Amino acid sequence: MEKMEELINLLVQKQLITEDKLLEAQKKADSLGKSLEEVLFREGLVEVEEYTKLKAEVYELPYENLLEKRINPRVLNIIPSEVAENYKIICFDKRNNKIKVGIVDPNNFKAIEAVDFLAKGAGLQVEYCLISPQSFKAAFKQYKTLDEELSSALKTREEKDEELVSSKEKERVDLEKVTKSAPVAKIVSVIIRHAIEGGASDIHIEPLPKESRVRYRIDGILHTSLVLPRSVHDAIVARIKVMSNLKLDETRIPQDGRIKLIYNDREVDFRVSTLPLVNTEKVVMRILDISKGIIPLKDLGFMGNALSVINNNVKRSDGLLLVTGPTGSGKSTTLFSILDILNQEGVNISTLEDPVEYQMKGVNQSQIRPEVGFTFASGLRSLLRQDPDIIMVGEIRDNETAELAIHAALTGHFVLSTLHTMDAIGAIPRLMDMKVEPFLLGSTLHTVIAQRLARKICSKCKEETKISDEYLNRIKKQISKIEKVAPGYIEDLIPDFDINNLKFYHGKGCPQCGNTGYKGRIAIAEVLDVNDRLRDLISNNQRNITLEDVVNSQPFITMEQDGVIKVLKGLTTMEEVLRVTED
Ligand SMILES: [Zn+2]
Repeated sequence: MEKMEELINLLVQKQLITEDKLLEAQKKADSLGKSLEEVLFREGLVEVEEYTKLKAEVYELPYENLLEKRINPRVLNIIPSEVAENYKIICFDKRNNKIKVGIVDPNNFKAIEAVDFLAKGAGLQVEYCLISPQSFKAAFKQYKTLDEELSSALKTREEKDEELVSSKEKERVDLEKVTKSAPVAKIVSVIIRHAIEGGASDIHIEPLPKESRVRYRIDGILHTSLVLPRSVHDAIVARIKVMSNLKLDETRIPQDGRIKLIYNDREVDFRVSTLPLVNTEKVVMRILDISKGIIPLKDLGFMGNALSVINNNVKRSDGLLLVTGPTGSGKSTTLFSILDILNQEGVNISTLEDPVEYQMKGVNQSQIRPEVGFTFASGLRSLLRQDPDIIMVGEIRDNETAELAIHAALTGHFVLSTLHTMDAIGAIPRLMDMKVEPFLLGSTLHTVIAQRLARKICSKCKEETKISDEYLNRIKKQISKIEKVAPGYIEDLIPDFDINNLKFYHGKGCPQCGNTGYKGRIAIAEVLDVNDRLRDLISNNQRNITLEDVVNSQPFITMEQDGVIKVLKGLTTMEEVLRVTED
């Protein structure tokens, strides 16, 4: 109690309150059975922050004002919201293993005990600071922002869940437990909504020792977006498993499922896969917005030579066109842009896909199901009996599919597919490795596109910049190669091109691009035209066609060169070009 007396003396001394008013307040407090502090605050007799500062002095604690402070959710959640609310404490800062905890009542030993217990378990040291009740309220609200966000949830297809609930009694119990224990359904909705709104392609939900981390892949890069208490991780995984019709009680093997949602009148598909970890699971959700529009090749980033070879070769009615590149390099998007050119009245287009990523009018699309024996190969076999003109096979990954695709291309069908190779030329030895006869390959393969996706400079914060000598030299070397292979090519694409005055750009970072300097992506591509000269080489069983063979046969622009032109056009940066083209 001495401390309280000391504080009251200080209040008067510092003229924060007159002695009369203080006496009056004390009387009121006594008659109402409340503390003096409560009355002082409620009646507005003292300025709360000034009062708290003095109180901190008396208790020899640092004072902190959290009224305007934005607290990192990861830091805030070191103390669970229930504990924070109960004891009026807030964790608001963390450096290394030191945390700062704001406390409203320094006499609340239970609060200090609780914090010490939590901190000890997490190997953290605590520094206590005194905060006002207002500070606490403002900071505590930040737990709620997530909650509030959560409430504006997605319109999910509830009936799907109900159906599942009624059909499986065991899962019903678990589901109820899960959805009642925490606002888990809301959390999942927010995770999904953020992903769709942020233009993410994948959601990763993974357990860390002390938290559950949600990362979004946006423009090909994973970003940590949400950190949730570790305690809700399993419930979130369970909720997603329920939504995607996966077995809740099966945690030892990976499972694959799907969720269909309506978001802003758009149908969005999620491909869900779970991976067992020690004592828990990780979930990855791939977002397939199948109602999104087909993008013309030009808008994807195809230009110059690449574009004219494709436009020319799609006029054929047979043969094989391949798109190569690693996973996530935009192969299917390109294939669909090409299918869109081919999708004319009077032709029959059939596809075999895994998964179906776009929906296209007038096209017969099938999803392969290897688990029931409906594979690319078996699907292709049955497709050929359906009299298609154009066939798209999601991927050639085995000898049988390769053989069937070549056979189809040879017998009057236009076949499109993808292959995992580093560059366009690499498709030739790869198919030979799959036991395709060289002379059959030579007579069917007419186009190979290799591509990557580079992030585009954000148009809202784009500015001129200098680049390193290393990059400059590399760019100049590629420019001289392009000029040798295709004289005038750069000038055609960049009218004000001046080798002595090269300009470079970057994004300095703004809210539009989340301070990354990049927004959206653009294809960096090379397109191989398998012309007569190359056809002869392939048919003569020449496995390794060299770049020299290629440039002797056509004005071939490599992926890096295409990237350099896009750097010179201010569309992307050399860092990006090298990041995606170098392996
Ligand atoms: Zn920007």
